[in-house]
Amino acid sequence: MTMEQQMLWQKTIPVRLDTDVLVAGGGPAGIAAAVAAARNGAKVFLVEGLSCLGGSGTSGMVSQLVGLTDGEHFMAGGIGAEMHQRLREMGGFRAYPYSGDILRTEIFKRFCDAYLLENGVSFLLVTRLIDVVREDGRVTAAILHGKSGIFAVTARQFIDCTGDGDLSAMAGAAFELGDENGNMQPGTLCSQWTGVDWSQADRRFQDEAMERAIADGFFTVPDHHFPGGYQNGETTMTLNAGHAHGLDGTDERSLTDAYITQRRRVVEYGEFYRKYLDGFSRIDLTATAPLMGVRESRRILGEYQMTERDFLERAVFADEIGRFAYAVDRHRNATDPEEYRRFEQQFQDLRYGPGESYGIPLRALLVKGLENVTVAGRCISTDCSMQASVRVMPGCFITGQAAGTAAALAVRKGVQLRHVPVREIQAALKDMGAYLPNFRPE
Ligand SMILES: Cc1cc2nc3c(=O)[nH]c(=O)nc-3n(C[C@H](O)[C@H](O)[C@H](O)COP(=O)(O)OP(=O)(O)OC[C@H]3O[C@@H](n4cnc5c(N)ncnc54)[C@H](O)[C@@H]3O)c2cc1C
Repeated sequence: MTMEQQMLWQKTIPVRLDTDVLVAGGGPAGIAAAVAAARNGAKVFLVEGLSCLGGSGTSGMVSQLVGLTDGEHFMAGGIGAEMHQRLREMGGFRAYPYSGDILRTEIFKRFCDAYLLENGVSFLLVTRLIDVVREDGRVTAAILHGKSGIFAVTARQFIDCTGDGDLSAMAGAAFELGDENGNMQPGTLCSQWTGVDWSQADRRFQDEAMERAIADGFFTVPDHHFPGGYQNGETTMTLNAGHAHGLDGTDERSLTDAYITQRRRVVEYGEFYRKYLDGFSRIDLTATAPLMGVRESRRILGEYQMTERDFLERAVFADEIGRFAYAVDRHRNATDPEEYRRFEQQFQDLRYGPGESYGIPLRALLVKGLENVTVAGRCISTDCSMQASVRVMPGCFITGQAAGTAAALAVRKGVQLRHVPVREIQAALKDMGAYLPNFRPE
C-alpha cells in the first residue's frame, strides 16, 4: 500500500447556530433523541446527510420494526410507542400474513418530517457532519457541509446517531470495528419491486426455491441466507436479499464497491423470483435503496460495554434506561452453508421466552473520554453479539429517547452529563412512557 500524502487545509467558516443539543443523524435513533430532548425543554438541532429522515427505515428501505415487544410488554415505550401508533394511523404499515407489519417507506418519510416539526426540532437535510471541534474532553462545535458551503453549529450537548459513530470517532473516541478477526456483519442493498401477483405468491416456498436455484448454479454468489421479499402494497414488494460480505460502512471505497456489486446482484434476485416462484413473472425493479443497509460498523466504547453475557443473564442494571428482547440476529460474513447453519443456530439459541428481556444501561450511551457526547442507535457500546440484538429499530428508539433525555437534563441543570442523577433521567423517561419495570420512584 502506498503512503497517502498529507496537506494542511484551513478555512474561516461562519457559525450559523448555537443550540442546546445537536443530534447528528436522523435515523430511528436520531428522531427519538431529538424529540426526547425537545420534550425535556432543550433547543434541538438535527443534521441529516440524506434527503429524508428515517435512516435505514426509509433511505435503506428496511421492511419492518422487529422486536417491538417481549411477547408481553411493549419494549420501546414512550416515543417509540407514539411513533408506532401515529404511523399506523397514517397508514404507514401494511399487514403481511407471514411476518409483522411491513413499513411503507414514503409514509414513514412524511411522518418523520411532521414529527420533528411539531416537536419544535429544527433540522437540515442534505447536510453532513464532517468534523467536530474538541477542546479538552468536550466537543464545542460540529462542522457541517451543505450545498451553501461549510459552517459550524455550537452546542452544549452532542448526540451521535449516525449509525456509524461518525461524531464520536471525529472527536477521538475509542471504538471497535468487527470481531476478533475483524469480521463485521455483511450489509444488504434493499430494493423495491412492482408487478407482483400476491394472490399467487406464497412466501413459504421461498427458501426451498432458493436452495433449488443454488443447486442449479443460478447465482454468481450462492448465498443461503435469504431474508427475502415482503408485501408492502397491492402489487409491490420490498426485497432484502444479497449480502455485501466484507463491507466496511466507514470506508467510502468499500461502500462504492458494494453499491456497484449489489446493484448488479439485485437484478439477479429479480430473475430468480421470475423463474422460480409463482406470482412474480411480471415483476419490475422500481428502485434500489439510496442508502446501503449497513448492519454493523463502529461500536463506540462507552462507560460500559454490553456483552453476550448480559443477554444470557437477562441483565438488570441500576442505571437501565430501557429493556430489550430481540434475538441475536448476527448475519455471517461468509456464504457457505455451514456458516448459515451457525447463524440459524445462534438466532434460535440466543432468543428469549415471553416476558424476558435485558436491560440497557445509561453507561452504554456515555462515550468514554468525552464529557458531553452520548451515542444512540446501532453504534452504542456493545460487543458484536449484543449489537446484533439492540441494533434493530425499536432498540434504536429506546437508546435515542434516553440519550435525548439525558442530554436535555444536563443542559437544564447546567451540569455535566455524568452529574445528572440517573434516577432523574429514569423518572423523566418513565414519565414519557418508557418500559422501566425495575425502576421504583421514591
Ligand atoms: C438490510 C437491513 C435490514 C434490516 N432489517 C430490519 C428490520 O426488519 N427491522 C428492524 O427493526 N431493523 C432492521 N434493521 C436494522 C435497522 O434498520 C438499523 O440498525 C437501524 O435503522 C439503525 O438506526 P440508527 O438510527 O442507529 O442508524 P441509521 O438508520 O443508519 O440512521 C443513521 C442516519 O444518520 C445519517 N448520517 C450518517 N452519518 C452522517 C453524517 N456524517 N452526517 C449527517 N448524517 C449522517 C444517515 O444518513 C442516516 O439517515 C436492518 C438493517 C439492515 C441493514
